Amino acid sequence: MQLLDPPIPEAVPARHRTRQARVAWRDTIVTVGGDAPVRVQSMTNTDTADAIATAIQVKELAQAGSELVRITVNTPEAAAAVPAIREQLDRMGVTVPLIGDFHYNGHRLLADFPDCAQALSKYRINPGNVGKGDKKDRQFGQMIDIALRHDKPVRIGVNWGSLDQELLAALMDGNARRAQPYDARQIMVQALVMSALESAGRAQGLGMDPGQILLSCKVSNVQDLVTVYRALAARCDHPLHLGLTEAGMGTKGAVASTAALAILLQEGIGDTIRVSLTPEPGAPRSQEVVVALEILQALGLRAFTPSVTACPGCGRTTSTFFQELTQTIDAFLRAKMPVWRTRYPGVEQLRVAVMGCIVNGPGESKHADIGISLPGTGEAPAAPVFIDGEKRVTLRGDNIAAEFQSIVEQYVDQRYGATTRRPDRAA
Ligand code: SF4
Repeated sequence: MQLLDPPIPEAVPARHRTRQARVAWRDTIVTVGGDAPVRVQSMTNTDTADAIATAIQVKELAQAGSELVRITVNTPEAAAAVPAIREQLDRMGVTVPLIGDFHYNGHRLLADFPDCAQALSKYRINPGNVGKGDKKDRQFGQMIDIALRHDKPVRIGVNWGSLDQELLAALMDGNARRAQPYDARQIMVQALVMSALESAGRAQGLGMDPGQILLSCKVSNVQDLVTVYRALAARCDHPLHLGLTEAGMGTKGAVASTAALAILLQEGIGDTIRVSLTPEPGAPRSQEVVVALEILQALGLRAFTPSVTACPGCGRTTSTFFQELTQTIDAFLRAKMPVWRTRYPGVEQLRVAVMGCIVNGPGESKHADIGISLPGTGEAPAAPVFIDGEKRVTLRGDNIAAEFQSIVEQYVDQRYGATTRRPDRAA
């Protein structure tokens, strides 16, 4: 059989080159843009004035993998609580940089609460909510001035739900005078992009380094988001923060966010991401972080946790055992990661397979670093385990889950523990 010539090219994500920003808290410096990996951001939903509740949720988000956490700063009480939140996090050993989310009164809060301005690592400014008429430029300028004094980057975050109405009206007027006016969607897209770029230009005019200005233009429709960000990326080299705003709840929110972000990330667009999930009642806020990590890992852009490949099951699987085993292994790997991450460098690249029958089980298990092929209907009650492509052992009986976990743990120690054991041996 002759090979295809030329060979099939691999899908390699491009990278839209942006400047690099530094979002820092003391010794913790999170680089964004440039050569830095795509960063994961999240946002609290606690009342910021409740410093303890907010610090606890920030810690939960950071432990889930959020590298930047945004908090609402909407009242004097919230602004006054920000230094206490920061201190509480520092006491808990959580160094994740905090971003302040400002609307309407940010200029006043930042001026009246300088400790808040200092404790935050970045300010989010919404040009649509910074003031009206002649106040707009003045209040925007005040926020940029404070950011410069405290040496903080800013994100100019445009949102179609709070688009600068004066800019939109001016564009609509201009459009109405055209012989062949654009449709309303085109005007909205232009207004979003122009609002972000004009505000960035104004911040630069006030002395801000362009690398310290991040931009976002969030909309809630997947195709509109792709259109807007492609336009933005073509016109500037500011680091870009991506997110589908108001993505929704549960599967819908996760799928819509993934669809939008995957297209843009594959084109190299996006330096930070946030998944704006509406939490289901009782669900942890950190679910949005889990989805964001999964998006980056599925695209091969970053690795955070060993991946578990599992088949969906079908008529060949008469029990739910392989589903339960997949869930158990997934939970086991996630629970181990906080320790493994430091003890076993590179373990996040581990690939585990849990398969339901002989059809694809052995093959998929051989492709993984370590895989188990469970018996389907009519097969002998035996589960072969494959390590590095070779069948090593066959598990039987009621203790398969525990035995497989133990095999995974031994494999991780042997494969990724060598570097951490070497100094002990030398000693
Ligand atoms: S591996 Fe077997 S059980 Fe799993 S989906 Fe394929 S045929 Fe069905």
